Amino acid sequence: MSTESRPQEFTIDRAAGVMYVIWLDDHHSEYLLTWLRGNCPCATCREERRTAALATDLLRLSATPPPSAAIAGAEFVGHYAIRFTWTDGHGAGIFPFSALRAACPCLDCNPDGAPPLVID
Ligand SMILES: [Zn+2]
Ligand SMILES: [Zn+2]
Repeated sequence: MSTESRPQEFTIDRAAGVMYVIWLDDHHSEYLLTWLRGNCPCATCREERRTAALATDLLRLSATPPPSAAIAGAEFVGHYAIRFTWTDGHGAGIFPFSALRAACPCLDCNPDGAPPLVID
């Protein structure tokens, strides 16, 4: 794994709703927790997003509350990824460091704004 996709330090500011990452090459990234939850890479969420993208009924409204974007816990998965547990109990998404780094929302990495998280 290259230096740039290895993290030095993760800080999750739950009050601000932001996760700060300092990478081994000293690059700093800030990810909104809402973005992390919205890009949850687990199979269930990916399927939900795929179905939503295919929906053509533009007037479809949902009365269910949006998924929780508050983090209850986080843990490393091996040496390559981080997994979050959200306060609504969801915790299946594993975020590889390399995918997080590629989706860094800073202007140097992605001048057009945060891209979706791409796994695979
Ligand atoms: Zn998920
Ligand atoms: Zn960046």
